[in-house]
Amino acid sequence: MNNQAYRVLLYYKFVHIEDPAAFTAEHLQYCKDMGLKGRILIASEGINGTVSGTWEQTEQYMKDLRSNPLFADIVFKIDEVEGHTFKKMFVRHKQELVTFRYEKPLDPNTKFGKRLSPVEFYEQLQQEDVVVIDGRNDYEYEIGHFRGAIRPDVESFREFPEWIRANMEQFKDKKVLTYCTGGIRCEKLTGFLIDEGFQDVNQLEGGIVTYSKDPEVQGRLFDGKCYVFDERISVPINHTEEDVVIAKCYHCGKTHDRYINCPTCNLQHVCCEECEDTHHRFCSSECRENAPANYIYEKTEVSL
Ligand SMILES: [Zn+2]
Ligand SMILES: [Zn+2]
Repeated sequence: MNNQAYRVLLYYKFVHIEDPAAFTAEHLQYCKDMGLKGRILIASEGINGTVSGTWEQTEQYMKDLRSNPLFADIVFKIDEVEGHTFKKMFVRHKQELVTFRYEKPLDPNTKFGKRLSPVEFYEQLQQEDVVVIDGRNDYEYEIGHFRGAIRPDVESFREFPEWIRANMEQFKDKKVLTYCTGGIRCEKLTGFLIDEGFQDVNQLEGGIVTYSKDPEVQGRLFDGKCYVFDERISVPINHTEEDVVIAKCYHCGKTHDRYINCPTCNLQHVCCEECEDTHHRFCSSECRENAPANYIYEKTEVSL
């Protein structure tokens, strides 16, 4: 299976980092020297990253990170790709690994929803009387989600506390399942739900990405694709014959599952190939008229 030359790593670990600013500077230099690209966040509560590199670079990175006692048991989700999925290397020092507008501190090492394996999650999904909350943003939900999951009306993770308080009160006594891309957002979200008085809180360990790779469930009950925060924009999850497309083209309404950015206003919108060719990737005629001076439309090579 290692015939692809590049890999993407997705990982996080909640662990206390003594001097996050110094660690950030050091880690940035190290990643740049190695030739990795991607986005890594470092806070006093831990590390959260996604990087792309050659097979050798990513192998070395995993080995080096695990050799640090803080990260000895860190879990890497690995995807094989054809090339870098980022343009640059960013390592940033942040207050929180995932920004969550909540008045109390949340430590996923002490307060967290029950962690379900992909198989357990799959079984629970099929039970009557469970409430499935998508722990991601609305635009991520749009191109793919677990069947029956509640669409969160949020554009960023920090809006969750307010949204939950306004909309989820009636589910406090129900079994609640949450999921997100790689698991990190659920670590915070489930701690918050417990704080709010939810009785039976469960999270998909390792997120959708891990679920997709489980040989037994093979992504079952996930409809559409999973949004990812790199140049791939979305990745397939359901590897069974039940795989379906659920998003709709912004222009013509035909089902399609690819997001593109408007060259003028940067609006991320689902667009089918025909409409991309007709509209040259612009979201509207106004944006087309006000195209950036250096913009030249070139047809996208569609690779699946
Ligand atoms: Zn279209
Ligand atoms: Zn636009």
